[in-house]
Amino acid sequence: MSNDVRFSVVIPVFNEEAVLEESYRRLKEVMESTGDTYELLFVDDGSKDRSATLLRELRGQDPQVKWLRFSRNFGHQVAITAGMEHAKGEAVVVIDADLQDPPELILEMIQKWEEGFDVVYAKRKERKGESWFKRVTAAGYYRLLRGLTEVDIPLDTGDFRLLDRKVCHAMNALKEKHRFVRGMVSWVGFRQTAVEYVRDERWAGETKYPLKKMLGLSMDGITSFSYKPLRLASYVGFLLSMGSFLYMMFIVLKALLMETGVPGWASLATMSLFFHGVTLIILGLMGEYIGRIYDESKNRPLYLIDREGGVTGNVSPGES
Ligand code: UDP
Ligand code: MG
Repeated sequence: MSNDVRFSVVIPVFNEEAVLEESYRRLKEVMESTGDTYELLFVDDGSKDRSATLLRELRGQDPQVKWLRFSRNFGHQVAITAGMEHAKGEAVVVIDADLQDPPELILEMIQKWEEGFDVVYAKRKERKGESWFKRVTAAGYYRLLRGLTEVDIPLDTGDFRLLDRKVCHAMNALKEKHRFVRGMVSWVGFRQTAVEYVRDERWAGETKYPLKKMLGLSMDGITSFSYKPLRLASYVGFLLSMGSFLYMMFIVLKALLMETGVPGWASLATMSLFFHGVTLIILGLMGEYIGRIYDESKNRPLYLIDREGGVTGNVSPGES
């Protein structure tokens, strides 16, 4: 395949007007220092602020900047996916727009890639400026996920990584709708290695990952890579029925051997509440999986592109 771009940098953008110019500047500096050809591919995930205008301006000054704009907010993982589908480079780097991932680390990743690795992921050895809550839940979650799945998903890594063209190709062939990209990259395999870094604070602006989106992502991670929660449901059910059977025997014997009074209301009520609770949790859990099957079966496109600058080469109303 003839290729005139060696490196693609994919940057998902959602309401990042406060950081966009600075991250462009830092990325530009780093990519220039490679002395190779590159493209900076920004995926605007339906921003409502001035991000789109800024991207258009950047492209006006610099043909290495390319952008896609979704018709609405489809989410971070989908934005990354779209970037990987449209990237042309021999190696594709995915990096957040907020400079929490230091662009300078890309050089180290490229070095590993040139040594022959196909995936170089960035492992966070420290996280700065993130809340106590986020650090603890993130650390706990990655460990839980690791326990639940057979796929070897590395601890404490996000989506900041470099992928060889063939890995990118393999990823693009995975058409699932609920995408947990960091897990999928582990699933595809190839030669993977890590570089460590200290995750900085966001350069400006606020997180675009409110708790609701975080929970959605963590559920996608578990349901995409493990059936174990469903199995857990049957274990819990089994244990509880065993317990109730024993308790039933106890009640029957007690009724036969001793005189029975009316007492027992409290234990009945609490037990019934407890069992209903467990049943509902398990039903909800099944619902999570069924809902995802439903989404897959609808077979809708993963995202819709509204406008673009320089990505497909088609004339687009966004290009001016
Ligand atoms: N992002 C996105 N779509 C979304 C939410 C976030 O494209 O719906 C982008 C965001 O612009 C940033 C990256 O995903 O480049 C990571 O988001 P953020 O930094 O807010 O997450 P955090 O680092 O707080 O987990
Ligand atoms: Mg961030």
